[in-house]
Amino acid sequence: MDIRQRGVFAEMKSFLVAVDIGTTSTKAAVIDAEGRIHAVLSEGYPLYTPAPGRAEQQPDEIVDAVTKAVSSVIAKAGASANDIRCIVFSSAMHSLIALDREGAPLTPSITWADNRSAPYVNLLREQYDAHAIYSATGTPIHPMSPLLKLMWLRDYEKAVFNHAYRFVGIKEYVIGQWFGGKHVVDHSIASAMGLFDLQQREWHTPALEAAGVDASRLPELVSTTHLLEGMDRAWAEKLGVAPDTPVVVGASDGVLANVGAGALAQDQFAVTIGTSGAVRAIVDAPRTDPQGRTFCYALTDDRWVVGGAINNGGVLFRWVRDELATKEAEEALAAGKDPYDRLTELAASAPAGSGGLICMPLFAGERAPYWNADVRGVFFGLSLAHGKAHMVRSVLEGVGFAVRSVAEAVADAAGAPREIRASGGFARSPFWRQILADVLGAPLTVPDAIESSALGAAALGLVALGDWRDFSGVRGWSQASFTHEPNAAHRAVYDELFALYSDLYPRLVDPFHRIVQLQTQN
Ligand code: ADP
Repeated sequence: MDIRQRGVFAEMKSFLVAVDIGTTSTKAAVIDAEGRIHAVLSEGYPLYTPAPGRAEQQPDEIVDAVTKAVSSVIAKAGASANDIRCIVFSSAMHSLIALDREGAPLTPSITWADNRSAPYVNLLREQYDAHAIYSATGTPIHPMSPLLKLMWLRDYEKAVFNHAYRFVGIKEYVIGQWFGGKHVVDHSIASAMGLFDLQQREWHTPALEAAGVDASRLPELVSTTHLLEGMDRAWAEKLGVAPDTPVVVGASDGVLANVGAGALAQDQFAVTIGTSGAVRAIVDAPRTDPQGRTFCYALTDDRWVVGGAINNGGVLFRWVRDELATKEAEEALAAGKDPYDRLTELAASAPAGSGGLICMPLFAGERAPYWNADVRGVFFGLSLAHGKAHMVRSVLEGVGFAVRSVAEAVADAAGAPREIRASGGFARSPFWRQILADVLGAPLTVPDAIESSALGAAALGLVALGDWRDFSGVRGWSQASFTHEPNAAHRAVYDELFALYSDLYPRLVDPFHRIVQLQTQN
């Protein structure tokens, strides 16, 4: 029987299990067709950093965690095997594992955070048409890209590279374990490998040539709504599902987060500021940037997500708490108050625009829109009239400017935003949210949905099962909890400061490089 026809018999099976494989943990959620989350939990695992720049994981530790997360969340929801209609995946992007012929790992999972292939950014630019590869694949030329990781393996781990039968990412590995060694990769995860032609929906030959692999060494390409059936019985038992439970191959966490947050239209930008940050918009055709500032990853066969990630998000506010305003943070703690709340109060005592003080929050090098590891933070315009409150406020505003620099690049592909949907730790602060609405000049709403990638995965599951034709049903799920309208007067101040911010960057490229050299020498 065609799996899509099963819907008519689905009265019994009312739940989807959405599984989001992240970098520090896997979250699993039991969700129904109305978007209600019945149970959610996470299973953590280590990220190993055996040497500077390395960030690896053990594939089997993740398989165990994912499996345990699924079985535990089903139990937590009080559901039984027969209640589960499908399992659907969301996953972190850019991981790479070399496998032998039997499917056993020859390498750890080399994660997105691993920097070993950094020298290959320039090498690819010198030896190949790197911009053409980016334009075809949508993946920025960055050490996170599996394309560059393959080049590194080819040169530094020759024996492993030559012996490797197949190269997969972490989700493909998990699915391979459950399905007797079958390795498939969805178009979304594939499009973040730097090897996949977004238009043609097949592997991109020039990128494969640069990587030194042919398509037979990569997983089979499938749509994100592809259903896998025939799970290994022993694994089904461990998972606590019936062996005929379909698994929807799913997509990447980033593109699904837009769906889960209800940022479905091209002019609804999803902005996340956690430790790092990202801006993303769903578009109806693959679009890459002539200046190479943004990524474009596949979501479904007719939707793509354009966006950019920044390194310097909430980590800046953490720096303020731990290094700049330690006294206030400690006093807040002693009074049983969240130090961040105390520091946003302090920032609020300074005027919008921080009295003409600009923070360029580029402390950790920056990805979008500059793709330059050799940049650092700047406080520009400091005077004796400025105090700590101005500096703290300028950091919150500066993160807003960094987001705006990416939002403008996204707007070149998707058009100007009509609405911002915000998430991440920063969204706990109404004050910081208002700053972002003012800096971006668009209403900013905070959806109640916290597990947006898992919700997005569940929505994808409903499309895959044939219940939904598209994602519009999500609009009935995520009710925005609060909207901040931009304040016209503040917006005007920020427009002026942002013009200056944008002007500063190109002037500082060379000095940034020189200061980074000094920092690495000393
Ligand atoms: P992660 O990216 O590690 O998942 P979160 O999304 O929880 O982390 O974001 C953590 C960041 O959120 C912190 O570094 C801080 O900048 C910000 N943050 C957390 N709580 C608050 C708060 N009450 N007010 C303002 N910012 C906050």
